[in-house]
Amino acid sequence: MSSEKEPIALASNFIRAIVEKDLEQHKFARKKWVGSPGDAAHQAMGQVDAAKIRTRFPPEPNGYLHIGHAKSIFLNFGLARDYGGICHLRFDDTNPEKENQEYVDSITEMVHWLGFGWQNGKENNLYFASNYFDFMYRAAESLIENGHAYVDSQTADEMRMNRGTLTEPGKNSPDRDRSIAENLQLFREMRAGKHADGSLVLRAKIDMASPNINMRDPAIYRVRRAHHHNTGDTWCIYPMYTFAHPIEDALEQITHSICTLEFEDQRPFYDWLLERLAEANLLAHPLPHQYEFARLNLTYVVLSKRKLIDLVEGKHVNGWDDPRLPTLAGARRRGYVAEGFKLFTDRIGVSKADSWIEYTILEDCMREVLNEASERRIAVLDPIKLVIDNYADNKTEDCFAPNHPQKPELGKRTVPLTKELWIEREDFEETPPKGFFRLMPDGMVRLRYGYVVKCTGFEKDAAGQITTVRCEYLPDTKSGTAGADAIKVKGNIHWVSAAHAYAAEVRLYDRLFKEAHPGEGDRDYINDLNPNSVKTITAQLEPSLKDAKPEDRFQFERHGYFVADRKDSVAGKPVFNRTVTLRDAWQK
Ligand code: ATP
Ligand code: MG
Repeated sequence: MSSEKEPIALASNFIRAIVEKDLEQHKFARKKWVGSPGDAAHQAMGQVDAAKIRTRFPPEPNGYLHIGHAKSIFLNFGLARDYGGICHLRFDDTNPEKENQEYVDSITEMVHWLGFGWQNGKENNLYFASNYFDFMYRAAESLIENGHAYVDSQTADEMRMNRGTLTEPGKNSPDRDRSIAENLQLFREMRAGKHADGSLVLRAKIDMASPNINMRDPAIYRVRRAHHHNTGDTWCIYPMYTFAHPIEDALEQITHSICTLEFEDQRPFYDWLLERLAEANLLAHPLPHQYEFARLNLTYVVLSKRKLIDLVEGKHVNGWDDPRLPTLAGARRRGYVAEGFKLFTDRIGVSKADSWIEYTILEDCMREVLNEASERRIAVLDPIKLVIDNYADNKTEDCFAPNHPQKPELGKRTVPLTKELWIEREDFEETPPKGFFRLMPDGMVRLRYGYVVKCTGFEKDAAGQITTVRCEYLPDTKSGTAGADAIKVKGNIHWVSAAHAYAAEVRLYDRLFKEAHPGEGDRDYINDLNPNSVKTITAQLEPSLKDAKPEDRFQFERHGYFVADRKDSVAGKPVFNRTVTLRDAWQK
């Protein structure tokens, strides 16, 4: 398990090593590509593929992408970019249920947002697996014709019973030795709609005694009367994922098919199937190869489409792009940036060992990128008044604040100083604890970019809450003037002119879950939700922030990184989301 205390160098990525070795050995030097997916005959008409490798990112359009998908996107598109290859975006839409256009649209939008595309010269490498149904059907008939598949009429229960266990072999189906002619006829009847849903299944004929249960005659086609978003009612039989996926890779001439570890046990079937189809001359060598890596597990969130759907549908959050959600749409609204995800995926690396990554590592990556990229602004999140009693009533004076402390080239901006200011409630203490250097009765502090002031008194409301602090300023101490250093004070507080401030809605987001491993053991992950994951406040912001455009990002000095919400901001009235605090508040 990683921890935020470990130094994290650029982590290793074993798949890069594999690609480099394959390229060195010219493994794909003669692979052909005609410009579009297709079988051996189709590709044979093409030239040697100009893409040195082909990878793919194959989401099923049955939900929104999450942070785990970002790892896969950077891996697949990143390998292609770094090794002279091409990465396809392929919608794995062979399952007719649960898939829809809204998901397709949001997936393409997020892949673009992360900085990747699929238009490569004249070639548009965006594909839909459902366009391969004809070939898949032909491949299934070919297996039958060559004695590698049979139609099974056992019930689902019988099949389960006869599959055996990890320690016991399975039992052959009574239908396993049907003649090729009978199998073909039954399979064609399945396609023609002559059999009820679930009544017949086409299975690969491999080995019911295989130590790998996935090789015990896996199902490859089932009868399912369901409308498909792309093919409509053309089909009433649909291929199983484990049959469809290798074929999709092969038709697209994928060289490195990268998936998560749970598919490791499927690799023998992946290879078996493609070899059988190559023997039948439907596919040509070199065939794609599957590589498995450890999926991303991130503390304090859930990365599973099903759980994310539950959170949205159960109204635990406000829609798919709620800034607290680990969806990419949510992360974007929260103010996370694509470069931060890039840094994150580089840091965590790619390995075969399952582990949990600390959420703080992701936050640190965002901080690093945002620190560089964000201009500074002043915001008072929990305002109380500070009145400078010896300052002229109607005077407005310019103070100059640097836009970025490490980048003087970004210049300074003007912030107005007046008699009445907003300061942070926590910057005044009536009875200060030891080591408190900000405002206190009779204490002195510098108003950042302004004057040194001395506290002269304070006022409370009926409830005993401080409402106003009073002070006097020392006229010769303005920052940037010769007298600025004449008086040394330890504290330095930020402020906004009350007459000029923009009172804005600001959302302070925190972690969605209060537990590092939501739902661990037999807890319901819903019970692990953090009840204080968002707090909406009215903050007093420096006046220039009124002009912020949706997705403008800033560091609010001393508070963290904030973004103008891309949905709820209107011109002249932006709403801000806290992306991440300056430091990790959860560290123990
Ligand atoms: P989920 O488990 O959330 O439902 P999925 O694996 O079903 O996700 P797909 O749409 O099939 O989602 O995923 C597309 C690609 O993203 C796959 O190649 C998958 O391996 C990869 N992927 C999904 N989740 C993660 C993760 N947590 N870490 C890394 N890669 C992931
Ligand atoms: Mg999946």
